[in-house]
Amino acid sequence: MESGHGPKPKLVVFDLDYTLWPFWVDTHFTPPFHKDSDGNVLDSRQAKILLYPDSKDILKQLNADGYTIAVASRTSCTAEANNLLEKFDLNKYISHKQIYPGCKKNHFSKFHATTGIKYEDMIFFDDEYRNVSDVSEKGVTCIFVEHGINWKEIKDGFNKFQRNRNRP
Ligand SMILES: [Mg+2]
Repeated sequence: MESGHGPKPKLVVFDLDYTLWPFWVDTHFTPPFHKDSDGNVLDSRQAKILLYPDSKDILKQLNADGYTIAVASRTSCTAEANNLLEKFDLNKYISHKQIYPGCKKNHFSKFHATTGIKYEDMIFFDDEYRNVSDVSEKGVTCIFVEHGINWKEIKDGFNKFQRNRNRP
């Protein structure tokens, strides 16, 4: 992906609910989830589950471009969220996952501890302002995503990352 000149993020982190997919995994669908013969992901009542339109393409392209991808979610439905990532065939793009309730500062402390990547080398996309506010305090470039992830948010976010890194 073209993201201008200058430093690139070493860890690209996405929230799940209302960032990669347009629902709360703990309330909107009824597990277990499964795939039909056409590859649709369905819940136990045959309701079709969709990602935001650009989500898969974004993860695939960033992965192909050599970026390390992670997800950070506060959902209490850890197993269900992991199951959906598997059903959507996204795990092959994702290197690190922190999925459990609590302040997202904790999730990022874990990312730092397990990867050794500095906070200033991370970028984070999330639809909840409190998470953006909390994680920003650690020095991560945070992008407040209002209508789900899309390519414009990625490009604007990477530009913001470079502005942050180029600041004296
Ligand atoms: Mg969310």
